[in-house]
Amino acid sequence: MKSPWRILVVSPLLLLPLHSSTSRAHDNQPGTIRSDHYTCVGCVLVVSVIEQLAQVHNSTVQASMERLCSYLPEEWVLKTACYMMVHVFGADIIKLFDKDVNADVVCHTLEFCKQEPGQPLCHLYPLPKESWKFTLEKARHIVKQSPIMKYTRSGAGICSLPFLAKICQKIKLAIKNSVPIKDVDSDKYSIFPTLRGYHWRGRDCNDSDKTVYPGRRPDNWDAHRDSNCNGIWGVDPKDGIPYEKKFCEGSQPRGIILLGDSAGAHFHIPPEWLTVSQMSVNSFLNLPTAVTNELDWPQLSGTTGFLDSASKIKENSIYLRLRKRNRCNHRDYQNISKNGASSRNVKSLIESLSRNQLLDHPAIVIYAMIGNDVCNGRKTDPVSAMTTPEQLYANVLKMLEALNSHLPTGSHVILYGLAHGAFLWDTLHSRYHPLGQLNKDVTYTQLYSFLGCLQVSPCPGWMSANETLRALTSERAQQLSETLRKIAASKKFTNFNLFYLDFAFQEVVEEWQKMGGQPWELIEAVDGFHPNEVALLLFADQLWEKVQRQWPDVLGKENPFNPQIEEVFGDQGGH
Ligand code: CA
Repeated sequence: MKSPWRILVVSPLLLLPLHSSTSRAHDNQPGTIRSDHYTCVGCVLVVSVIEQLAQVHNSTVQASMERLCSYLPEEWVLKTACYMMVHVFGADIIKLFDKDVNADVVCHTLEFCKQEPGQPLCHLYPLPKESWKFTLEKARHIVKQSPIMKYTRSGAGICSLPFLAKICQKIKLAIKNSVPIKDVDSDKYSIFPTLRGYHWRGRDCNDSDKTVYPGRRPDNWDAHRDSNCNGIWGVDPKDGIPYEKKFCEGSQPRGIILLGDSAGAHFHIPPEWLTVSQMSVNSFLNLPTAVTNELDWPQLSGTTGFLDSASKIKENSIYLRLRKRNRCNHRDYQNISKNGASSRNVKSLIESLSRNQLLDHPAIVIYAMIGNDVCNGRKTDPVSAMTTPEQLYANVLKMLEALNSHLPTGSHVILYGLAHGAFLWDTLHSRYHPLGQLNKDVTYTQLYSFLGCLQVSPCPGWMSANETLRALTSERAQQLSETLRKIAASKKFTNFNLFYLDFAFQEVVEEWQKMGGQPWELIEAVDGFHPNEVALLLFADQLWEKVQRQWPDVLGKENPFNPQIEEVFGDQGGH
């Protein structure tokens, strides 16, 4: 759930420190988590992929490295840089593979992974038959004088190597040029998809005018311009009445806003990036988008997704349902989620929420921090680092007060319970990870222990072989959910109604099983932790059904003019 996962994806692909230019500082995770631990994970993943590509295509390691480079997209000179890396470092990697060592040994030999004094040895694959020390000594001897060692030992970054300085310069420039010049934070709505653009909140329809944005009440019934970007504007020539007045007045338009974590933002590492049997140039086409979206896919999320899902599931996001119910709601969505977010830092998220109490339509706000209050990067005593019910109570009340001063009257806030993470271990521990499917050698138990050992596990409490720890984590999550339920039952606010909904995972599993699915198919394959796209859409379906049944006012009325809006304005300018 933490942002350094991005480092894991970008840096190993090139083994370059690109992350410093693409990531933004956030998270309040303990400072003990070091980015080189992610480099170790990244190295093991990439080396495994190279090894398996050679195996599947019955090719040399050299050919397999070049094959991987050929699959990478051209953006940011990724492909060129990859070939460069093969040219410089390939010979050493080949020499190591010749000695029949696994990815753990390769990465420890090249010092992308380091066993620190007094710390356990972290490995993904089973340990070699000969002793670890002996194997490593032997491997180290092979690459003693190699350029890659000069790099990893210098700690100064690969760009400090004279023969790579030029290409580094080129990559940095390419990244800089791919980022919109406009400061994406100062103006919250954007005409760009990524970097917190319209994948995250409704697309702006006039980038040069700050009084124009999705979710506002129409200015002068939008007779002359589309001030709220819902695609409805102008005057009906037949009777001189503005369309926005004719079709939307009294229709109770409203937006949807999610205050969430990586699950709400739909964190997802495509399994295609690691599955060699299917790997092709198509596998990495989405890499630049993914990286500039913090490895999140809000455009496909259960709450604010607006693109068609690639999964065969027919369920729609909450946003698309609200839009279908009342087409005046077009583009009124905000996914204010962040990897690593929890009740502890939700207040800073609210600062980036855009809602003007006087000018805008009411909103449905969903607070869904489903894990990070009990998940944290600390291996030593994870329980003491969890949010207590008292702390959660204080954090959430502060957040609600802040919301009360932001939201237009008539809004609704739904507090969502915490996840039931014990499901992860129960469902996955004996299954093979995508990386282990070819040779049946990496299970989720091994992945969890590898990540936990390196202190980069997104949730050591639940992603653990320790049954007692998993139970304690679940117990605390339940106490926190109960606290949220109590707050919703006892507190009143002037500008919104407050509700609580359980994270009813069992119901989602049952629904999925009725559709012929298996429980493990609801979890992200690569990280073995997050709910995947199917799960998120099933959750959205469940939430919608429950709200419609219990509190129908939250969703607003069905707009009888929907067919006319479609007739006059088509897809209303799309998303
Ligand atoms: Ca409009």
